[in-house]
Amino acid sequence: KANGRNDFAGFEDEMDALLRNRHRLETDLREALGANDQIEVYYQPIYCARTETLNGFEALLRWHHPARGPISPEFFIPIAEEAGIIGDLGQFVLRQACEAAMRWPDQTMAVNVSILELQDMDYVQKLAAVLAATGLAPERLELEVTETAMLTAGTCEENLKAIRMMGIRVALDDFGTGFSSLGRLTRIDVDRIKIDKTFVHGFDQSSNDKAMVRAIVELAHATRLAITAEGVENRAQMEFLREIGCDLLQGFYYAKPAPAAEIDALLAK
Ligand code: C2E
Ligand code: CA
Ligand code: CA
Ligand code: CA
Repeated sequence: KANGRNDFAGFEDEMDALLRNRHRLETDLREALGANDQIEVYYQPIYCARTETLNGFEALLRWHHPARGPISPEFFIPIAEEAGIIGDLGQFVLRQACEAAMRWPDQTMAVNVSILELQDMDYVQKLAAVLAATGLAPERLELEVTETAMLTAGTCEENLKAIRMMGIRVALDDFGTGFSSLGRLTRIDVDRIKIDKTFVHGFDQSSNDKAMVRAIVELAHATRLAITAEGVENRAQMEFLREIGCDLLQGFYYAKPAPAAEIDALLAK
């Protein structure tokens, strides 16, 4: 029967397997980035709450692993960060997204940026190079960063300042899931906040989530910040967010993320 020692050996085997697995995925991800047919950018439409017209898109990475099938970015972005290839991955998304935006006039393009990319001293230069190469006007690009990036002094802070000076907008992603207090909102240098989907999904069960989101929208507007709500899945959520004056809405209720070719077809109609 299992004694303490055997249990521990079993645990070690499991850890070994996990690490090997992770190492394997890291190698696979490097290969995928070189091969260019496994990693693809999807685009999720974002709508104006008031007019219910299309306002733009958020670029979202997809990895179709040849053996394992689709792997979620929630899982492979951290691997890319640890493996030191997030910079290359970020440049790939940015380039694709700017090229797509050039085909989709009048639409805003939002791109997620990892804090590790923002800590790169050459990030702004690389960003400017992509805009120059694709011809995209900086006003049409919005970079989505998380709170940790907003609160990190040094290169990160300088890069964010330079990015906004270029005319590119910055959005604070996943708002409400981190550490910032509502009060801090008035002192943070961003153009928009994105309310995290966990709040929107809490509407049905909790009046607290509704009160919270209402307060965020009020405070944001008082400080001239625009607001996007993500994860809008049903009509009731949409109507509440509209009623309290949320500016943009994103979620499966409107549309799921889709390959560029689908958006090309949609806009050609
Ligand atoms: P995020 O930036 O918060 O992106 C929103 C996530 O919510 C996306 O998941 C999107 O597909 C999902 N979503 C949109 N509408 C709904 C809805 O109505 N209901 C539900 N349940 N989910 C909805 P996705 O595409 O799996 O991406 C997960 C996360 O991975 C992103 O969260 C972002 O943090 C990261 N990520 C994705 N692409 C990139 C990228 O190009 N660069 C970086 N650095 N991170 C990325
Ligand atoms: Ca985002
Ligand atoms: Ca989020
Ligand atoms: Ca996120």
